[in-house]
Amino acid sequence: MGEINARTPENAWKCSNCGYGLQAPTPPAACPSCGKRCEFLNVTCYTPDCAETGADPRLKPAK
Ligand SMILES: [Zn+2]
Repeated sequence: MGEINARTPENAWKCSNCGYGLQAPTPPAACPSCGKRCEFLNVTCYTPDCAETGADPRLKPAK
């Protein structure tokens, strides 16, 4: 996979089932990690706090 530029306008998503995180314009239909059609939570962070990862660590998927 290509490198992720922190300044790209992509959204950060986290699988509500396994917690797998990825960055893409839209969430995938099926989770690449657990292979299920999970609900992806938008964890995109727009504050400087988490500019390094692009995702807000305070936003956790519901278990
Ligand atoms: Zn998953």
